[in-house]
Parts: sequence; C-alpha cells; structure tokens
Amino acid sequence: MGIATINPATGETLQTFEALTDAGTETKLALADSCFVQYRNTPMPERSQWLMKAADILEGDRVRFGEMMTLEMGKTLKSAIAEVEKCALVCRYYAERAAEFLADVPAQTDASQSFVRYQPLGVILAVMPWNFPFWQVFRFAAPALMAGNVGLLKHSSNVPQCALAIEEIFQKAGFPDGAFQTLLVGADKVASIIADDRVKAATLTGSEPAGMSLAAAAGKQIKKVVLELGGSDPFIVLESADLDAAVSTAVTARLLNNGQSCIAAKRFIVVDAIADSFEKRLVEKFEAMKIGDPMDKDTDLGPLATPSILKDLDWQVQESVNVGAKLLTGGKPLSDRKGNFYLPTILTDIPAGSPAEAEEFFGPVALLFRVKDIDAAIKLANATPFGLGASAWTNVEAERDRLINEIEAGAVFINGMVKSDPRLPFGGIKRSGYGRELGIQGIHEFVNIKTVWVR
Ligand code: NAP
Repeated sequence: MGIATINPATGETLQTFEALTDAGTETKLALADSCFVQYRNTPMPERSQWLMKAADILEGDRVRFGEMMTLEMGKTLKSAIAEVEKCALVCRYYAERAAEFLADVPAQTDASQSFVRYQPLGVILAVMPWNFPFWQVFRFAAPALMAGNVGLLKHSSNVPQCALAIEEIFQKAGFPDGAFQTLLVGADKVASIIADDRVKAATLTGSEPAGMSLAAAAGKQIKKVVLELGGSDPFIVLESADLDAAVSTAVTARLLNNGQSCIAAKRFIVVDAIADSFEKRLVEKFEAMKIGDPMDKDTDLGPLATPSILKDLDWQVQESVNVGAKLLTGGKPLSDRKGNFYLPTILTDIPAGSPAEAEEFFGPVALLFRVKDIDAAIKLANATPFGLGASAWTNVEAERDRLINEIEAGAVFINGMVKSDPRLPFGGIKRSGYGRELGIQGIHEFVNIKTVWVR
C-alpha cells in the first residue's frame, strides 16, 4: 500500500504522498543525531515549557486535528476531538512530573555516595498504528522528549497527514529542529532504520507480525524494544454484578473507535445465571447503534479504517459461523453505501478452533461465551495467547481479589472499562508484548539507568 489519505467513509483517495527517499531518510537521521547532542543538555524546565506549549497547540486546534483523524481513519469526530484533548493531558502530565520521575535516586551502600541517575539513550524510533493516530504517538513522545531523547516517527501509511501534523506541533511548540521528526516511509524501511548505529532503541504499537519483525531486527543489533501488540481482552460478568452498568459499559468497551482498539473488550464471558438477560440487552443495544458518516455528531459507529480490515473481519465472522458459531445480530458489511461499514455483530455458541475462539477481532464484533462459575470464567479468560487488559464485574470482594490475582493481563479493571490513563502504566504480557508506556514506568523505558558509586 502506498502512503495516502483515503477516506474510509467513501473510499475516495484524497491525497497521495511520495515516500521519503533513502537520501531523505539519511538527512533526517543525521539531523536527529546532531540534535540529540545539544538536546540532551537542555534544562528540564525548558523541555517542560515546550511540552506545555504543545498541549496548548493541540487544544487550540482540536477540531482541525480531530477532522484530520476522522478523514484518514474513520473514527467519529467527537471521539477524535476527545483524543486530541487526551494528548494535551499526557503532555501536561509529563511536563509537570518528569523532573520528579527522573530525579537521582539515592541508595545506602558501602560508598560515601551512591545513587541511580536516569540519562537519555538518544534517537528512538517509534513505529505507530493508525487506530489512535495522535494518542499512540503522544504517549510515546511526551515522556521520551522529557527524558532528553529525540524521536523519529514511522506512522501507518494510511495516516500521513496526522503524521506530518504531529511533527509540526512539536516544531511550533519550540522543540529544536530534529527533536521530533516524521519519516514518511513504508514498513519495508523499518529494519534498516533500526539497524542504523544512530538509532538506539525502538517502540512499536501494532500487530504481532510487525512486532516480531521489528524485535528480530532490533535483536540483531542488541537494541531495546517496547512492544504494544494485539489483545483479545475478556470482559467477565459474574452474578452479583450491576447488570445495567455492565451492559452499557460492554457496548462502549466493544464499539469504541468503531471496534478497532487493542484494549477493546472482545470476549464477553458471562455466568449462566445472568447470561440470557445480558445477551438480550446487548443485542438490543447493538441494534440501536447509529451507523454513518463519522463527521456527523449523532453517529455512534463509523467505517473501519481500510477495505482490508473489513474483508478480514468479515472472513473471521463467516468462517466462525461456518464451523458452528451462532450469529445473534449483524454479521455483514453494509451493502447500501460506499465505505468500509460493518454491522455491529454478536456471535455466541463459539466452537473450539474457530477464529472467534482463537483470534483477535479488530472491528465491531462481540464474542459471547457462557460459563458456569468464576473458575470457568478465569480459565477461559486466560485461554488466549494475548494478555493485554481485562475488565471484570462483581460486587463480591473475594471474587474481586481472585480476578485481580489470577487473570493473566497487563491490566485488570474491576467494574469498569479498560482504558489508558497517563497516570497508570500501560502494556501487556504474553503475545500482547512487553514493556510499559505511561506513568513513571513509561518514562523509564528509554533511559540509561546509571548506577553511580563514589568512594
Ligand atoms: P500493523 O499493520 O502492525 O501496523 C502498525 C505499524 O507497523 C504501521 O506503522 C505499519 O506500517 C508498521 N508495520 C507493519 N508491518 C511491519 C513490519 N513487518 N515491520 C515493521 N513495521 C511494520 O498494525 P495495524 O493493523 O495498524 O494495527 C492493528 C493492530 O495493532 C492490532 O493487533 C491492535 O490490537 C494493535 N494495537 C495495539 C495497541 C497496544 O497498545 N497494545 C494499540 C493499538 C493497536 P505500514 O502502515 O506502512 O504497514
């Protein structure tokens, strides 16, 4: 696929972009490298001021940036504007807290003085996905820049306008030339960029194949990588749960971002005692969703980002039905219009070995499982190669403790939807990746944790 803006609501190609030549990439790498030499020594208050300015720019232009995202990848405009605001939040969070997070940490040893000092690594490559085109980038960039690193962004090929706009935001905010640059290149260039001596580490948010490929290339050079990959998050509902709250949160947790979120609830695991009621209400709510133009403020669900995502999702649904899954609602693309629209869909009676049992569904498809009790719920929740997030609903304290302790995931949310928050670390285990973003842990990923010992 070339680098282009293609409106997912209409299929229309709006703008195509020339990929950066190898010489162009070399110029940007050289600039990043020379920038780091100066930038690493800029005083923290100065970096903080620039990041605060970036937050102001984001907020000041939230509608324009929101429209850009909606145009390029189809999320509803209201959610795109909220995404811009969240980016401002993460900028302010690190602008205010980085000095404290990166302060020397004294240790009592046999030395007269010993402590840990956090120092930047250098040029960090960020390979990012289209689903939250601003948020994914800012949650990497804000801590990385505050730590004194410089960033190179290789964004998804379907969101080039967003990628260029983000570079411009950091420039306008006052960061020196080269502190944050966008490389408009295809995925085929990533291995050679990470192999370059001037690039010290990388982070990738995206699919498993992309993560494996980057981690392998970085591994050959002994370079650190953070991977935020896919998920098939469970959403467990036990008998004591507040069912109204659980059902309405289930709808949001599955359909947010037109169903294309790594931490979307994907597998709904409900105990028999309440399963009929949960199922009936979920179907009603899915059928009431307003599908349409994502720019329209009344739209709940816009198109999928690309035709291939639509095709893959439909294949997963059809194949699951072919091997015995039961379709409760939806189950097909909207054929009365252009664009990549897919009906909100619910599958149940999911057979072992079907795509619905084993794979991530990246679109508005809920997979509903019935279980006997909490033991079966936890067992099923953990029966996946992924381990990103989990949401679980109960009002029994002992059950809550078991869910927190026994679910294999990077995050467990009790009686709430899994979400990212600048104040809390974010990341997965198993095939969902490794490393953490956000919180104090996020800013410590790309630093040299230097031990200092003085006699
Ligand atoms: P993707 O195809 O893996 O693309 C993500 C990024 O990786 C893009 O910039 C892409 O570039 C690049 N890329 C693709 N193949 C590559 C390769 N072999 N080597 C190096 N780079 C490569 O993923 P996607 O379809 O955009 O996103 C969906 C996936 O991301 C889902 O699995 C979702 O769960 C996951 N995700 C995870 C998180 C998280 O925080 N854990 C957040 C959001 C999404 P091109 O566009 O040029 O191909």
